[in-house]
Amino acid sequence: MRVLRAAVVGAGAMGSGIACVLSQCGIEVLLKDVEQQAVDRGLGNIKRMYDSRVKKGVNTQEEADKLLALVKGTTSYDDFKNVDLVIEAAFEEISVKLDIFKTLDEICPKKAILATNTSALSVSEIAAATSRPEKVLGMHFFNPAQFMKLVEVIPGVHTSEETVKTAMDLCLEMGKTPVKVDECPGFLVNRVLFTYMNEALYMLQEGTATIEEIDAKAVEFGLPMGPFALFDMTGIDVCAHVTEFLFKQYGERFSPSPLLAKMVKAKQLGQKTGAGFFMHDKAVPAKGEAKQVNPKVAELVKEANKETPLKKSSRSFDGLRLILPMLNEAIYCLQEGVVDVQDIDLAMQNGCGFKKGLVALADEKGLSFCLDELNAYATSGGTYASAANSKEVLNERFRPSWLLSKLVGAKMHKLSEYGKKPACVS
Ligand code: NAD
Repeated sequence: MRVLRAAVVGAGAMGSGIACVLSQCGIEVLLKDVEQQAVDRGLGNIKRMYDSRVKKGVNTQEEADKLLALVKGTTSYDDFKNVDLVIEAAFEEISVKLDIFKTLDEICPKKAILATNTSALSVSEIAAATSRPEKVLGMHFFNPAQFMKLVEVIPGVHTSEETVKTAMDLCLEMGKTPVKVDECPGFLVNRVLFTYMNEALYMLQEGTATIEEIDAKAVEFGLPMGPFALFDMTGIDVCAHVTEFLFKQYGERFSPSPLLAKMVKAKQLGQKTGAGFFMHDKAVPAKGEAKQVNPKVAELVKEANKETPLKKSSRSFDGLRLILPMLNEAIYCLQEGVVDVQDIDLAMQNGCGFKKGLVALADEKGLSFCLDELNAYATSGGTYASAANSKEVLNERFRPSWLLSKLVGAKMHKLSEYGKKPACVS
């Protein structure tokens, strides 16, 4: 099915970006929110996006006016009777999404596909609020939706192949890079990325390296910005919420750094509060001028260490400590069949701007080296050292996935070869 008429529910940051991208390929879009004020704000965002495209020479003014006219704001579901597809981008609360999908199911034509842009909620649970779970799926855009290429396409338990194909085709038509990801907490990119964000906090709390050193190392490895700059941009409270969620779902591997809760409690939340790991209260630093580290962080590190002393890793500072947990998590995803090996780097490159890619890095270093390094980190400290738990335990954040051990046992050197079967010699 080719999508000609779409609707977006929720005209906030993501909804307005998604509506803009849909309209750019000539699709009529209804942009719905609860109140007219929110609709107008969303339409205003889209107008600004088109103004910027005209300024950059991507569209002529005439083209922009024509495409912008395809987006119609509304506060009612009345016009949803003719849509081919709806993308929901309302609040990240299961009760809100269940209500919306129940209503959409009653109003939209039977053939319509219903997608959710949820970051973490269960697509299958949302689908179960409808009488058409085979036509419901996740389409997880990245922020800002008008620029970021990746869309994680997430089938639920009952989603049909045809629904997945329509969503993948639509993404391609919008100039996006779709990657099919089996439903799991955090999907692929956030699940993988948060292991690295969490590890950066442990390194800081242990005193292994400074904020600037850790951020610089991540950039050396090909990430567009360091973990602390990303914490500040995303919002430290939002990150704490995601880490807690992943910890609840996957256990010790995602055990949140005690420093994170300290930052939230002290309301050092990043750009939005003027201070996070860096200061943001003054004018943007001039080109070439370093960002200033928030002096309060050192106090909070001290407090966190007093309450929850960490046993410092015996290994010296190395960027691999940041990257290996990501690679290990990506291999856990392969082990669970969440994603195909050739899609891992595609997703990490297009979803978070990781230039090199994890599979490429594993190929370059060799799987047995990666396994040895994970084992070395797993046994080199960095665990809680409370009196009650002072004996040496394996650091779960580095426990290698059994698939990695299996591949090394099979003498496989390159991760990119996983799943390729040699032809039979008769
Ligand atoms: P937002 O707060 O900017 O916008 C949400 C909008 O939904 C608001 O305008 C709100 O009025 C509207 N809304 C709430 N309930 C509604 C209802 N019943 N009907 C219609 N509209 C309703 O939020 P956002 O950042 O755009 O996030 C939206 C969704 O996208 C969430 O599920 C979020 O997890 C997901 N997401 C966000 C990001 C991000 O970085 N912001 C990235 C990927 C996915």
